[in-house]
Amino acid sequence: MIYEGHAFHESFSGGKASGRIQFVGNSVHYENDEKEVSLQLDGLKVELGGASNRILFISHPMNDEWKLFTSDLTILNDLAFANNHDLHKQVSKANKSRKLALIIALTSVFLFFTSMAYAWFKKDSVIGAAVEQIPVEWEIQLGDSAFGQFTSGKRLLKDEKLESQLGELLAPLVKEASNERFEYKFHIVEDSTLNAAAFPGGNMIIHSGLILKLQNSEQLLGVLAHEMAHVNRRHSMKTLVSNAGLYIVLDTVVGGFGALSGVILNGGSQLLLLKNSRSHEKDADEIGWEYLVKGGIDPRGLIESFKIMEESLSDEMKEYSENLDFLSTHPALGDRVSYLEDKWEETRKLYNFKPLNFDYELFQKNVRKNLEESPESKSMPEGNEKEVKE
Ligand SMILES: [Zn+2]
Repeated sequence: MIYEGHAFHESFSGGKASGRIQFVGNSVHYENDEKEVSLQLDGLKVELGGASNRILFISHPMNDEWKLFTSDLTILNDLAFANNHDLHKQVSKANKSRKLALIIALTSVFLFFTSMAYAWFKKDSVIGAAVEQIPVEWEIQLGDSAFGQFTSGKRLLKDEKLESQLGELLAPLVKEASNERFEYKFHIVEDSTLNAAAFPGGNMIIHSGLILKLQNSEQLLGVLAHEMAHVNRRHSMKTLVSNAGLYIVLDTVVGGFGALSGVILNGGSQLLLLKNSRSHEKDADEIGWEYLVKGGIDPRGLIESFKIMEESLSDEMKEYSENLDFLSTHPALGDRVSYLEDKWEETRKLYNFKPLNFDYELFQKNVRKNLEESPESKSMPEGNEKEVKE
């Protein structure tokens, strides 16, 4: 066996050079391109040192200008050690003292490299691979239960005409964004703040305030394309998984869904609190943009809706629904707008968008009509609104 190693010798520049160590006959032999040396096994000194005793030093009192060392500790298993009584004694003594240190050291080396790989090199793909292990049914169930929790006590505008209008508006977008995994379900929630959110598995909520504030179909579709991209790309699951920690993620990638299922079972209610990361937001902007373009929908609506939302933000509103998608990412909105404006410069050269054939004002009118039928607006009229007679 040949082991990678190093030697200290005054002739080397810096006093040290790397090379190869092997046992030859009754000696241990070191060589590199410049020099070589053989140290007799008889009388050889071996000792462990360095950080966490991870390095084996080899020297011989008769040849003490040389000192060899290697971090390849498999050298300790070499037959040359086992067959030489004195060395064997030295090694097993060293082995005892280093056993625990070695375990700790090797574990930390392993963790160091896997963490590096995880954190820098392939984090997204490691997480993506773990998410692929999550059965879609689980995700849908989890999303449905989070949706149920979120909307309990809130009023959903359920009206046949409204739903058919929404269906008509969304048709070109749903066509582009649909997939085999998830079915999109859109719900209008009575809430005056400007927001929308997607739940894992396909439930979407749109605040009535957003519909009323936006000015045209393209703007609303822009927001919803972004939300659909969150669902399709399983961003919530990715966030959940990356919060689960390295061990569970690696375990899931290697060993399947078992370890992760516990996290998901416990994580359901936390799901509402998870914010999309900036990279997920950017991804959703990109993918949403694609859906819009493919669906023949002018994607500038997405940019305009960002601007409208940003302008309308007040501190009060931020507090009110900070867990929802758009407001939670407010600090980055400016960057996203300028990024998408650059994107538009490219897109406009390739596509020609026609205005959509949808009466947005009529849709808004219908939303308003539904809101007025709300029991809450009857019992708690706003100061400047007309009084409702009982
Ligand atoms: Zn988002």
